[in-house]
Amino acid sequence: MSLQKTLTIQKIVDDDVEKAVFDALNAIEAKSLMKKQGMKILLKPNLLSAKPPERAVTTHPLVVRAVIRWLKQFNPSKIYVGDSSGGSALNSTAIALKTSGIQAVCDEENVIAIPLEKTERKIYPVPNPLILDEIASTKLLDEVDLIVNLPKIKTHSQCTLTCSIKNMFGTIILTKKAEKHARFPSISQFCSALVDIYSVSKPQLTVIDGFLAMEGNGPGAGDVVDDLKIILAGYDGIALDTLVCKIIGLDPSKVLYIEKGTKKGIGSSNLEEFNIIGQSIESVFRPFKIPRLMPVSLRLPRAVAEYIGDKIFKSTIKIDKEKCKLCGTCWKNCPVDALTPPNELKIGNYIPIWDKEKCISCYCCAELCPYEAVEFKIHYFRNFLFSYLGLGFVSLITIIALLIAFL
Ligand code: SF4
Ligand code: SF4
Repeated sequence: MSLQKTLTIQKIVDDDVEKAVFDALNAIEAKSLMKKQGMKILLKPNLLSAKPPERAVTTHPLVVRAVIRWLKQFNPSKIYVGDSSGGSALNSTAIALKTSGIQAVCDEENVIAIPLEKTERKIYPVPNPLILDEIASTKLLDEVDLIVNLPKIKTHSQCTLTCSIKNMFGTIILTKKAEKHARFPSISQFCSALVDIYSVSKPQLTVIDGFLAMEGNGPGAGDVVDDLKIILAGYDGIALDTLVCKIIGLDPSKVLYIEKGTKKGIGSSNLEEFNIIGQSIESVFRPFKIPRLMPVSLRLPRAVAEYIGDKIFKSTIKIDKEKCKLCGTCWKNCPVDALTPPNELKIGNYIPIWDKEKCISCYCCAELCPYEAVEFKIHYFRNFLFSYLGLGFVSLITIIALLIAFL
């Protein structure tokens, strides 16, 4: 079996993250990628928002440090640690780097922490596009010799899981992310966009942070999982995300980008093709709370499925008055201006105003709210009643009732 078909699961014992990372990278013989002295390497952690490591939103700094130290054995000329955060403010990534503890690790290890929005941009054509012909990203993707993906295991209220494939969405710069959400409001379209982006920014190596993970209302406001404590590594992002699904008790078919990525050929979800070294799936199995907001996956004509997805599965935002500090993050980052400031900025009395018609359920507000004040709910029955389907159904029942009454 080729090295590309090798995956590893390593248990973190006594919180020794560095040992688990070294064991993982040695197990899959990642040194085969270190082809020369003086390589330039880009590490891509998850820097979704400015949260401390114990909140399990961002890649843990101990994982980033361990990967840097492992790479340093091969005398690279430059190691960049870069991402573009979820916010649109120019300093969002810099703040996330600091709060997550990753900036401090980079300073101590003497490597370059860099917000990708501060780098030169480049337009990349997408090979065999599913939905995007081109993407705008950092020129660094082209300039480095090796890209290492450092995702975190988190359930996700929109995509069900965020890990290897979704993490590379961060190579799209700041507000461009919101634009992608706006252009591709359905989960199916959005997952196609994720696969297209991954096919351009495709990392040669992935090390997954399962030291602290997140379950439930992820990726920003879920519950911390501190009893999984694993590191995964491999070369195939689709296979790794499938492996994560098996470990957390999630059916991989519920993660649309796994199916789409397999079809596009960016990886394989058939774990039987892979040699899994280290722990077995059963030995680390730990079921996660899976978010209730599941994507529509009915076998219906696309237009009907999209209509049902948009209307019946339409989420309603609930903002917690007690938690909301009227900081403005949500309305400044909403890609379609569906959130606006309240008439008065009085904390505890007012919350942002939400326009349901404009909202495309991109979850940016929930992901970015620093106070975890935004929640989503789906009112299936109400949505159904106020849709053409519901109106048609009510009309039909009325006609039948009238017919029965008059016959
Ligand atoms: S909901 Fe969150 S992001 Fe929006 S204003 Fe309130 S605290 Fe800020
Ligand atoms: S209100 Fe929130 S979920 Fe709706 S479009 Fe704006 S950022 Fe996205």
